[in-house]
Amino acid sequence: MGENEIRCRIAPSPSGFLHIGTAKTALYNWLFARSQGGAFILRLEDTDAERTDEQFVAAMCEGFKWLGIDWDEGPKFGDEPEKGGYGPYRQSQRRDLYRREAARLLEEGKAYKCFCTREEIEAMRQQAAAEKRPPRYSGKCRNLTPEEIAAKGDAPYSVRFRVPEGETIVDDIIQGPVRFNNKEYDDFIIVKPNGDAIFHLAVVVDDGLMKVSHIIRGDDHLTNAGRHVMLFSALGYPLPKFAHHPLVHDEQGRKYSKRLHGANVLDWREDGYLPETLINYIALLGWTSEEEGREFFTLEELKRLFSLKRLTKSPARFDRKKLDWLNGQHIRMLTAEQLCDRVLPIMRKNGLDVDSRPRDWLLKMAAACQEKIPTLNHIVGYTDFFFIRPEAYEEKGARKFFAQPDSPDWIQTAIKAMREAEGWNHDALKEKYERAAGAGGIKIGALVNATRLALTGKTVGPGLYELAELLGRDEAITRMERALAYIEQHEGELRQ
Ligand code: GLU
Repeated sequence: MGENEIRCRIAPSPSGFLHIGTAKTALYNWLFARSQGGAFILRLEDTDAERTDEQFVAAMCEGFKWLGIDWDEGPKFGDEPEKGGYGPYRQSQRRDLYRREAARLLEEGKAYKCFCTREEIEAMRQQAAAEKRPPRYSGKCRNLTPEEIAAKGDAPYSVRFRVPEGETIVDDIIQGPVRFNNKEYDDFIIVKPNGDAIFHLAVVVDDGLMKVSHIIRGDDHLTNAGRHVMLFSALGYPLPKFAHHPLVHDEQGRKYSKRLHGANVLDWREDGYLPETLINYIALLGWTSEEEGREFFTLEELKRLFSLKRLTKSPARFDRKKLDWLNGQHIRMLTAEQLCDRVLPIMRKNGLDVDSRPRDWLLKMAAACQEKIPTLNHIVGYTDFFFIRPEAYEEKGARKFFAQPDSPDWIQTAIKAMREAEGWNHDALKEKYERAAGAGGIKIGALVNATRLALTGKTVGPGLYELAELLGRDEAITRMERALAYIEQHEGELRQ
């Protein structure tokens, strides 16, 4: 590895699904690595055995895969082999490394053994609370002599980091230089009495040994970063660059709760959003383009344009309207083939018999909906009538287009236009409809909307001439006749 190689990582605790906030952190690291020709590492913080489960690892990685975020180095899981030369990539398999590095700190006097019992620590905490001070370790074991330590025999101990005097500066790419008075940190524990490393030690050892060059993560870790800078220096590792970005907020401006719908990235897949949309949207949650106001980006564009300089400091609120708009834009970017492949499983799942239709019919169907559907799931409401004859008509539409004195005339005129169309296709139908409207002194909108309602039972859907073409001549005319009969039979109640 060259001295200046860009190496970024995402280090999630696999305790559940892929949270949108973790996805944001992963995306920024990934885009930065990709834009610089660097490496992106997946490392699992799985030391909390009770909260970790292989199922969670799989669920989380499914989120990454759906988004298209791939990693160059990472652990084995499922069929995926371990990749990369800096493994293992699970903290649970790195315990020896943490112990070795903690031992080095002890030897060099940069850490010390603390024999204080749980009760003693609790008493310190209570006393601090009574005196309205923040709880601090008293420093009781900071200066034990070798004799005093030897006298403890095999009493259990934790290892505490000996916080040096002075000030620590986290020179953050997003936040600017952040200064911490070291007095704000008491001598924090780095190894528990059972020998397990605490997060701060593990993360710094991992980043140091994995030669991580940039730590891009949520700003909830900014205070931790002070501890980490001290540990990097104590362990003699080169200091990586830091960029702490704001957390994702919900529409009310609160931290996006795990319990909210949409916290799980895969909720959006469920709801018919494209991964391209989510990537684009999440990128905008904390990054702006040099091109002022531009919001639509393809993945390839983001890989090229993303830069740490353009990351923003203030938290972005989740904006559903923008997400929906972007989804529409990304749907329009697909080819008919791609759209077709993405909507067919959804249609099948909803009981529409797509497999009985030839591929070129399905492609035309997808193309007819492409400009209209805001999410992939909308495809069902936009196409179900192709497979199921409408038994009822949307009430509001029926009042508008079936309940008028002229309604039977509109339908009859439309039927005539259909019968006379030379060839059953969009252009021929359009021509006949326009001519019939002109000749009969009927508004084209009335003809079109009454026909749409008759053919689909609805007031919105694909373009009328396209859908009529796809429905086929006989079926279209049958539906028109059924609508006419319906209007005649229900005249009274329609006009109420
Ligand atoms: N497991 C930590 C988190 O998910 C990672 C901390 C880090 O990136 O250093 O917040």
